Amino acid sequence: MTTTHASRLLAWYDRHRRTLPWRAPAGRRADPYVVWLSEIMLQQTTVATVGDYFRRFIERWPTVEALAEAPLDEVLSAWAGLGYYARARNLHACARAVAESGGRFPKDESGLLALPGIGAYTAAAIRAIAFDEPASAVDGNVERVIARLFAIETPLPDAKTEIKTRAAKLVPPERAGDYAQAMMDLGATVCTPRNPRCVICPLMTACKARKQGIAEELPRRAPKAAKPTRRGLAFVLARKDGAILLRKRPPKGLLGGMDEVPSSPWREGKLSPEKALAEAPVPARWQILDGLVRHTFTHFHLELTVARATATTGRLATLAPGTSWCTVDRMTERALPTVMRKVIAHAVRS
Ligand code: SF4
Repeated sequence: MTTTHASRLLAWYDRHRRTLPWRAPAGRRADPYVVWLSEIMLQQTTVATVGDYFRRFIERWPTVEALAEAPLDEVLSAWAGLGYYARARNLHACARAVAESGGRFPKDESGLLALPGIGAYTAAAIRAIAFDEPASAVDGNVERVIARLFAIETPLPDAKTEIKTRAAKLVPPERAGDYAQAMMDLGATVCTPRNPRCVICPLMTACKARKQGIAEELPRRAPKAAKPTRRGLAFVLARKDGAILLRKRPPKGLLGGMDEVPSSPWREGKLSPEKALAEAPVPARWQILDGLVRHTFTHFHLELTVARATATTGRLATLAPGTSWCTVDRMTERALPTVMRKVIAHAVRS
């Protein structure tokens, strides 16, 4: 690909660029805070899902300083449902670091990489989109476009280095931010995983995979190792007024700092719900419900059996530290991850 192809891509972008809530109008430089926030949200999450979260965050915390001043609990709660909660903790830590150093995101790669939660991709996206620096931001969409343009047959993840090297050589010296967004848009709307629309693609004449008739087969992927399944018993203890007992997870690790209903440890192997009742947060008349709540994390599948009980006043004094009651009307304010919302819904439905 040559500068001509970059020009074709930019010309296509000028006509077909997506309108996205975080995208600056044509010809305007994007706010680094907005770029950073949207890119963190978009990691592992679709544009459609991120839209509403992004709008809510920007409305509530319009500047990096405002986000830095927010209590972590509020940020986690606003993030609930987006998944990958380490991102939210890092988001908050990063906002604090930027606010403490004057409220400006650094422009250089090393300064950005030193901030919590910012990796090579996010640093490149911020540098390109917010500062118009010729940085190469290679997300999943761009990876696919490059693999096809050069007919790279090496399966992912081994192909990553070659893809990044090829992508970096294509970045034009001018309009690097628009170019980065054009590549993202091309991958999202034209060079799609299934049925790429090669006939309308601005890069059609240069594309090797199209010429070889293998576009849809690329990028190839090495087979993934099967995920293990962990199982546990979740305890939904409800007061007569409908309030549910929640506890806070440890600050670090999976779902760190989020709220949850208490549960037995999540382990691989068969679960004996009757034995797992020994892990109940309080003695009560626990009823084991039919059905399972299933959820998939990055490294494992989770199957939770749900036990439900109604709390009586005499037992409330025995609650463990770190647990608290949450009334139904306050539930949306709590940092409840999706899996726990599913558990509560299952207990309410059954
Ligand atoms: Fe993708 Fe087809 Fe364009 Fe090649 S020609 S970049 S395969 S849409």
